[in-house]
Order: sequence, then structure tokens, then C-alpha cells
Amino acid sequence: MADVVVITGGSRGIGAACARLAARAGKAVCLSYATNRAAAEAVVADIEAAGGTAGAVKCDVADNNQVVALFEAADAMGAAHGGAVSGLINNAGVIDLRARVDEMSPERLERIMRVNILGSFFCAREAVSRMSTRRGGKGGTIVNLSSAAAKLGAAGQYVDYAASKGAIDTFTRGLALETAEEGIRVNGVRPGIIDTDIHASGGEPDRARKLRGVVPMKREGSAEEVAEAVLWLMSDAASYVTGATIDVTGGR
Ligand code: NAP
Repeated sequence: MADVVVITGGSRGIGAACARLAARAGKAVCLSYATNRAAAEAVVADIEAAGGTAGAVKCDVADNNQVVALFEAADAMGAAHGGAVSGLINNAGVIDLRARVDEMSPERLERIMRVNILGSFFCAREAVSRMSTRRGGKGGTIVNLSSAAAKLGAAGQYVDYAASKGAIDTFTRGLALETAEEGIRVNGVRPGIIDTDIHASGGEPDRARKLRGVVPMKREGSAEEVAEAVLWLMSDAASYVTGATIDVTGGR
């Protein structure tokens, strides 16, 4: 028997590291990807080769219907393994090219807000409706990926992205309080400068290395270092922790 953890954006970077660690912790992993099927299948193959259980589902988290289908796939995975959905890692997130607010197009703003904010709400709604004891569920945990940018503001880079992560911090707090009596713990992680592909998607593949100097620890972090914090928050070791957001930033 294995309970299912849904991990959005589990094909690469921090999500993929979370998927591997969750599988090692004995969870069946239902990971989603947006377009990169090969990367998602490689993570699934890694987990299965290590004796774990995983499946990959294509899902744009900005699309409500696709999120509903993702959780139906997670239910089917749970049924196949004698478990149910007991966790969600709201990890999928996007940035855009460096720009000032007065240069941002409506399309850009809509994409950032839809993926980063609405996507997290859609997924949390599906998770809570399954896990809440108020609705007959057995409880569970949610971890939302925020960003150090939520505190720093990211002026001249991507204030839109930073603001979307500020919304995630408030979302974490509010959802935690709303579900605290229903067996659900909700927490967040604010990564700093982490070595993943996200910087290339913002047009600056070398960003993590270039910014080492601004980090008190004088280095970028790894996806695995972020995943360790996420999986701790998901674990019973954090059984009295809810509504918290942990900085994983090397002190920044
Ligand atoms: P990444 O390497 O760019 O990976 C992004 C993941 O999200 C991929 O699996 C991608 O799928 C998926 N994705 C993208 N758009 C999606 C959509 N519309 N719907 C569903 N999935 C989507 O990102 P990362 O660096 O690991 O970041 C993970 C999270 O940490 C994000 O929320 C990010 O904001 C946050 N974070 C990262 C850093 C950092 O320095 N890396 C710092 C602070 C916060 P495909 O593989 O199919 O494209």
C-alpha cells in the first residue's frame, strides 16, 4: 500500500528532486509536466529502477480541466496501490524575460499569474477536497513553492513573478488556517538562487553562477537541498508545523 503525492512540474529541477525523495520516503509519486514528456518519463524510470512507484501526467496547471484530470489520474494510481492522495507539492512555476513593470504585456502578466497563482489554487482545491477530514478524507500535507523574490521584489528583473510568489505566501498562511482542524498541514518553501533550468527560461542560463556573490554562503543551492526542506515539511517529523514558510536561500 502506498499513499500518493501529487507533484506539479515534477519533470525537472526542484520538482524532479522532490519526486525522487518522495519515492524514497515510500510514496507513490504522481508527477505532472507541461511539455517535456521525455524528462518526465526519465524521472519515472529513475524512481522505478530504484524500486519506487511513479507515473507522469501531462498537465498545464493553468487549465482547471487539466488539473481535475491530473487528480483523477492520481486517484487511479492510489486505487491501484491500495492508497489515496495524501500530499501535494505545488511546485510548477514560471518566470519570464527580464523586464520592467512598465514594459510588461497583458499576455505575459496573465501567464505568470495563471500558472503561479491560479494553478496552485486549482491543485490545492483538488487536494483538500480529497484529504480534508471534513469531507471524509484522512488528512494530508501541502507544500507550496514560493521564492525569495517574494521578499526581495525582483526590481528590474521580474516584479510580476515576485508578486505571484507573495500571493503564494499569503495563500499558504490562509489555507493552513482554513484546514488546520481538518487534518491538513500547509507550508511553504522560499528557495533562493537554485541551479535549475528556470534561469535559462528567463533568458539567463548563467544566472545562478553569476549571482553567487550576493548570497551570504557565496554559492547557489541545488534542487536537492530545496527538496530536503519540502520533504521534511511533508513528513511526520514536521507534525506540529503548519502555516510556515521556510527560506532555503543560503542566508539571502
Ligand atoms: P524549472 O527547472 O524551470 O522546472 C519547471 C517545472 O515546471 C518543469 O517540470 C515544467 O514542466 C513545469 N511547468 C512549467 N510550466 C508549467 C505549467 N504551466 N503547468 C505545469 N507544469 C509546468 O523550475 P525550478 O527552478 O525547478 O522551479 C520550481 C519551483 O521553484 C517554481 O515554482 C519556481 O518558481 C520556484 N523557485 C525556483 C528558484 C530557482 O532558483 N530555481 C528560486 C525560487 C523559487 P516541463 O518540463 O514539461 O517544461
